[in-house]
Amino acid sequence: MKLLEDKILACGKVLPGEVLKVDSFLNHQIDPVLIMELGKAFYEHFSLYSISKILTVESSGIALALAAAQYFRVPVVFGKKGKHKNVGDNVYTCECFSYTKGQTYEVAVSKDYLTADDTVLIIDDFLANGAAAECLLNIIDQAGAKLAGIGIAIEKGFQPGGERLRARGIDVQSLAIIESMTDDSVTFRSAD
Ligand code: 5GP
Repeated sequence: MKLLEDKILACGKVLPGEVLKVDSFLNHQIDPVLIMELGKAFYEHFSLYSISKILTVESSGIALALAAAQYFRVPVVFGKKGKHKNVGDNVYTCECFSYTKGQTYEVAVSKDYLTADDTVLIIDDFLANGAAAECLLNIIDQAGAKLAGIGIAIEKGFQPGGERLRARGIDVQSLAIIESMTDDSVTFRSAD
């Protein structure tokens, strides 16, 4: 998606460890016009799936998931991180390794908000090794819910998450796929 690629080129910063910093528009300060356009792009791709819930992880996926949910007109459920998550014991849980923080945390989703009747779209800001997506897939399995697909703002195509998920037949829609990045350049994979 050209709009997102241009924004990454204008405002993104490459940090050591192949981390792309986009917190001036996506996951700290948020550009509302851009994020609604990203939400609309997910809707255009996944609108035929009869989606009933959008699932993400706190905190950086929430704004993007909400932008999409506004088009789908369905609720957003976000996985809560850590032990002090204040959601009680009636939860699905999964361990997830954080790429950016280098540590494992627990994600919990209340059984009240995800059931076998749901068709779920996963949304997240980044896809790198796929750990966050795998964790949400695990929670969808625990609920007995159906997966529609996975919507990602920025996929780092040089890390294996996207390829592994697509190899399993999962519909992964990434709005920008980074082929490679250096300290002062970002190259995108061209659209098919
Ligand atoms: P994965 O679990 O696929 O390895 O990584 C995805 C998660 O890690 C996302 O939820 C995102 O928050 C974070 N992440 C991974 N790579 C980056 C990156 O380059 N920049 C930022 N800002 N977050 C990232």
